[in-house]
Amino acid sequence: MDVHCSTCGEPWDVYHLRHDAIFETDLDPAEAEAWRTMSSSSRLMPRYREKFKAAGWEFGQTVMNVIRCPCCPTGAKANPERLTTKRALEELFGADEDGLASTFEDYRL
Ligand SMILES: [Zn+2]
Repeated sequence: MDVHCSTCGEPWDVYHLRHDAIFETDLDPAEAEAWRTMSSSSRLMPRYREKFKAAGWEFGQTVMNVIRCPCCPTGAKANPERLTTKRALEELFGADEDGLASTFEDYRL
């Protein structure tokens, strides 16, 4: 399943977001490994958001919602309609990340 970056439109594989993107941060490998088993909300605690941001990633409430990614051109702004739609879907699906990801994929979000 692929979801798209809200800023540059780059497709990202859901597996990569859940399992590999964390290794692009400067967390040590043991902590990155532990992150992979955390709950959806713990994964985006401020500490991890900061680490992701330094590596070029910004997420909504879940890692399924890619707001910015390492492919984004400098200074590019997220598409506001896309942000609003994805935020609403995120609320609707709550903790159901798979449902959210497949809906994003269906609508090419
Ligand atoms: Zn991007």
